[in-house]
Amino acid sequence: MNKEQLLSSLEEVADPRVISAMSHVPRELFLPEPLQSRAYDDTPLPIGRGQTISAPHMVAIMCTILDLQPGMNVLEVGGGSGYHAAVMAELVRPGGQVYSVERIAGLVEAARLNLARAGVENVTVIQSDGSLGLPEHAPYDRISVAATAPSIPEPLKQQLKIEGRMVIPVGEDYQELYLVTRKNGFFAERKMGVIFVPLIGEEGFKDRN
Ligand code: SAH
Repeated sequence: MNKEQLLSSLEEVADPRVISAMSHVPRELFLPEPLQSRAYDDTPLPIGRGQTISAPHMVAIMCTILDLQPGMNVLEVGGGSGYHAAVMAELVRPGGQVYSVERIAGLVEAARLNLARAGVENVTVIQSDGSLGLPEHAPYDRISVAATAPSIPEPLKQQLKIEGRMVIPVGEDYQELYLVTRKNGFFAERKMGVIFVPLIGEEGFKDRN
C-alpha cells in the first residue's frame, strides 16, 4: 500500500483528526532501513530486540478511543520506535506533552533519534518500567499502553486524572483492548481482541530471559 491508500483505509476505524495527524507523521522514519519501503503496509513490523511497531490501524484505533485533545498531558507505556508517541504528540498540539516510557535502552535511543528526525518536539522518551507509570509527571489526561498486561496496573489507574482515559491491552494468549475511564470510580470497557508484545515489569509479566 502507499500512504494515500493506507490513510483512506483508516477512515472506517478512525476519527478524521487522527487520520490527519497520521498524515503528518512519516512512519518510514521510525523503521529500520530495510523495512522502510513497507512503511505504509497496514501491519506490525519488527524494530529490533524482539519488539514491533504497531500496525497503523491499531495506532489509529487507540488514538480514536483515547480522544486526544490539544494541551493534554499524556503518558505512553511502551515507546518502541516512537511512532505512536509522535502521532499522539501531533494530536495534543498546541500545548500538550507526551511522556513515553520504554524499558529497553537501545530502543529508547532509537526512538529519540527517530523523533528528532521527524521534527517532533513535544515527546520526552524515558527509560524505565512503565508498568509503574511515571509519577514525576502525573496526573495524566490520557494513558496509552502499547504492551499487554496481566491486569490493569494499579499505579497507572492512580496516575490518571478524574475524567481521564486509558487504553490498555490485557491478557496473555488471548488479549483484549480496554478503555478505562476514571470518574468517581474506574470504569473498564472491553473494545476488541488484539495482539501485543508483553508488558514486562513489576506490575506486568515477569521477565523470562
Ligand atoms: N508504541 C510503539 C510500539 C512498541 S511495542 C511504537 O509505536 O513503535 C511495545 C514496547 O513496550 C516494546 O518496545 C517493549 O520493549 C516495551 N515494554 C514492555 N514492557 C515495558 C515496561 N514495563 N515499561 C516500558 N516499556 C515496556
